Amino acid sequence: MAYEEARDELVRRIERREDVSERTLDAIRAVPRHEFVPEDQRDRAYGDHPVPIGHGQTVSAPHMVAIMVDLLAVDEGDHVYEVGTGSGYHAAVVAEIVGGENVYSVEYVEPLAEDARERFDRLGYDVHVRVGDGREGWAAGAPYDAAYLTCGAPEGVPDSIIEQTRPGGTIVAPVGGRVGQDLVRLTVTADGVEREQHARVQFVPIQGGPRDG
Ligand code: SAH
Repeated sequence: MAYEEARDELVRRIERREDVSERTLDAIRAVPRHEFVPEDQRDRAYGDHPVPIGHGQTVSAPHMVAIMVDLLAVDEGDHVYEVGTGSGYHAAVVAEIVGGENVYSVEYVEPLAEDARERFDRLGYDVHVRVGDGREGWAAGAPYDAAYLTCGAPEGVPDSIIEQTRPGGTIVAPVGGRVGQDLVRLTVTADGVEREQHARVQFVPIQGGPRDG
């Protein structure tokens, strides 16, 4: 089938260009990306670029999803928290590794969350979706082995997300302002976080007003 060929070709392209694990590549290969983009974008689903998903949002380019999933370094059964469900594509890739029932994803824009839920049901991913401000975390799945943000966080990773991630756990996030962010990986320690810097990236900014306190 044409979509499968396009997907295999995409995976080969990512494999040539990025240093990501076989397991991550297998997860990308397993998820039907065309099911996660609007119908009029389907022929662009397997290009290695972001795709608009409505409401001013985009699903990241596949190589960026691959890099972020690889940095999370998760295993089957790990609990994972996502800020920004969007189309649900990134969460589905993570679900291929950890199992959908272990993925907790919060989306700010209600219609995007509803569409993602419908998609997860139809495609058989048991990912948990909540509408709200992902900066608050989600106690239901905590403590998390890993967490990630799919929108740029100008003020850094929110404390509640760090608190809901277990010591030794990993957080991947684009940190910085509107004109670009640093993709960082935090490792939560007993008394704070260790920070590694990766690529310069360009994500849509996190939504919601400034928060108190
Ligand atoms: N992971 C998504 C990427 C979508 S883009 C995918 O695979 O398609 C980033 C998403 O973050 C958008 O859907 C946006 O609405 C959402 N977002 C922005 N600010 C948020 C917040 N404070 N809480 C939860 N989601 C947020």
